[in-house]
Amino acid sequence: MQKQLPDVPLRDSSTNWVAPLSSEVFGHQHQTWSCPFLARQLTLAIPIIAAILFFFVMSCLLQTSFTDPGILPRATVCEAAALEKQIDNTGSSTYRPPPRTREVMINGQMVKLKYCFTCKMFRPPRTSHCSVCDNCVERFDHHCPWVGNCVGRRNYRFFYAFILSLSFLTAFIFACVVTHLTLRSQGSNFLSTLKETPASVLELVICFFSIWSILGLSGFHTYLVASNLTTNEDIKGSWSSKRGGEASVNPYSHKSVVTNCCAVLCGPLPPSLIDRRGFVQPDTVLPSPVRSNEPTHGAKPDASMVGGYP
Ligand SMILES: [Zn+2]
Ligand SMILES: [Zn+2]
Repeated sequence: MQKQLPDVPLRDSSTNWVAPLSSEVFGHQHQTWSCPFLARQLTLAIPIIAAILFFFVMSCLLQTSFTDPGILPRATVCEAAALEKQIDNTGSSTYRPPPRTREVMINGQMVKLKYCFTCKMFRPPRTSHCSVCDNCVERFDHHCPWVGNCVGRRNYRFFYAFILSLSFLTAFIFACVVTHLTLRSQGSNFLSTLKETPASVLELVICFFSIWSILGLSGFHTYLVASNLTTNEDIKGSWSSKRGGEASVNPYSHKSVVTNCCAVLCGPLPPSLIDRRGFVQPDTVLPSPVRSNEPTHGAKPDASMVGGYP
């Protein structure tokens, strides 16, 4: 049986919130949940704000999950063969394998490009190969198991919006639950209030333990955005001045917090390079000299044989 709620205003300043809170006024369903309670007692804006925040968080989460993070397509057999030939021409005079790094100058800073043996190409600056997705990802930040995707150049802004809005939502829910319990416990025993509203207590505990990690993550990524760094670079200490005794600075930083934030969060979004609807091409059309010449046994690759391949 659902009880009829009275039309009279429930807020009574003379009784300081106590009078309308009896179980005769609210049904049991309304007693235990924070949202209907606060909507009636304070303002309807509370569920509206919570709903807007919730849908914003969910849309950011889905965008992070389903946006291509900036995957670089692997080299085709011909491209890989041409590159391999180029590498062999430059460094086949010794027994050691040919150098698999290249150096480029970025804003006065020497940056090493590593060769990716899986994707058969030199990784562009800030690109890293994700072991989970098995792809090279541009401006690789990290692989996030929570969103089930890599976080890279094309979805970092959605990821940042997701954790930032999630921080606000968690803090908002936490504040609402605290307000609910405080209002309910006025004029009665606090422990009995907790017993009456087990759902709110559970919500309080979950929010309390999750808010620290979410706020910490948001703070960390705010620092990364402000200094135009990636998690990968920060963990590796790529631009740390202590690294190898050489003084190195982040060559991608614009030397201004505002410019860095604008560049990371509002910069142009490059188009996706992967063909989601395409068919996988069989890669056995041409014999790959890459495999046949891999110096697995420490033997010197035969230059004349390499030259014999198309
Ligand atoms: Zn790769
Ligand atoms: Zn990944």
